[in-house]
Amino acid sequence: MSIMVPSTTPALVTSGHQALDSALHQLGQAADQLGLDDGLRAMLATPRRSMTVSVPVRREDGSLDVVQGFHVQHNVSRGPAKGGLRFHPGTDIHGITALAMWMTWKCALVGIPYGGAKGGVAVDPAGLTVRELERLTRRYVNEILPLIGPEKDIPAADVGTDERTMAWVRDAYKLNSGYSVSGEPMAPDGSSGRADSTARGVQIAVLSALGRAPAGTTVAVQGFGKVGAPVAQHLAEAGCKVVAVSDATGAVHAGGGLDLARLRAWVAESGGVAGYRHADALARDDLFELDVDVLVPAALDGAITEANAPRVRARLVVEAANGPVTPGADEILHANGTTVVPDILAGAGGVIVSHLEWVQNLQASSWSPSEVELKLSDLMRSTFSEVTSLAAERGLTLRQAAHVIAVGRVAEAHHVRGLCH
Ligand code: GLU
Repeated sequence: MSIMVPSTTPALVTSGHQALDSALHQLGQAADQLGLDDGLRAMLATPRRSMTVSVPVRREDGSLDVVQGFHVQHNVSRGPAKGGLRFHPGTDIHGITALAMWMTWKCALVGIPYGGAKGGVAVDPAGLTVRELERLTRRYVNEILPLIGPEKDIPAADVGTDERTMAWVRDAYKLNSGYSVSGEPMAPDGSSGRADSTARGVQIAVLSALGRAPAGTTVAVQGFGKVGAPVAQHLAEAGCKVVAVSDATGAVHAGGGLDLARLRAWVAESGGVAGYRHADALARDDLFELDVDVLVPAALDGAITEANAPRVRARLVVEAANGPVTPGADEILHANGTTVVPDILAGAGGVIVSHLEWVQNLQASSWSPSEVELKLSDLMRSTFSEVTSLAAERGLTLRQAAHVIAVGRVAEAHHVRGLCH
């Protein structure tokens, strides 16, 4: 039996710690603004529950690998825990804790009745066959079964997972819990627009932050996957010129704007943007330094740090990923006059539509794509203006203002219900 525990790779362990440091720093700033007492600060800084599990995976050749899985519920004071399930080799308990905390703030900021959670497995899904992935997913769900359920904790897709993964999650949950199919609130794709919702929310955030007609606005997108590719598409459709995108394989640049349909076809064929012949190749990390109007980090946390932030030339950074800008980088960008639209605002479209899906399923009804779209865009726009108003009123960055609103709502829920909830 071989033991595969990728999260012990030193470089990967660091990233989870860095994400948690960032999340705690942001919480500390909001707590100072709100004047929270030490007890409440401690409560908000620590997860309500966290679980580490070993997940055995039978490989196609008959051998057995054991990978580590995690599930963290950061807070449940405003409703059931909510958050994505991530399959990525860099996953560790610290990173999952940070991501669960960000989910708490994201849900509170947009005013949906959820707490925050995150799940993860330290595995590279690209290294597994579909059958291996299915076995891994089902086994992971078995391990975390006591924690999840439509009234307790509702998983959704995240990095390295998709609708297919969520269908396995739902089925494994149903088989083990006896929960009925009809009115199933954990439906993987029950609502129209769910798969595209994070990207659509990012588009609304970019257009709101631009505050002018988008025609000719140049954009670079880091990440050309489940979120980055549709973000690029939505922004191009809105009139922006997407001049560069990157993914794990490399980056491509075309000053006149990329032909996104052609690029998507190339990525589907070759597995990544590298080698695309109809644009200039770029070193992957040079994308952050391009002279563009808008930079959209849409991959992992810790992408823009103190090391590369001084060279960012975009005036607007819109965070489609969770935690892509570290606190040190945030300060540098702010000092250089760059506005950052934070993850808990820009990336909220996914969980907003998750909530719409949950409501539809509870009601055993389904809304039209235009109804879903209208509710999503109304909530994104009203939250955006609430954040910008508070930022202007108190002289805060958009991230600080978003955290003050979100942490304030969670703190209020604790006060109303009693501190121990
Ligand atoms: N994975 C998405 C996020 O990080 C959506 C989570 C959800 O819908 O629960 O916001």
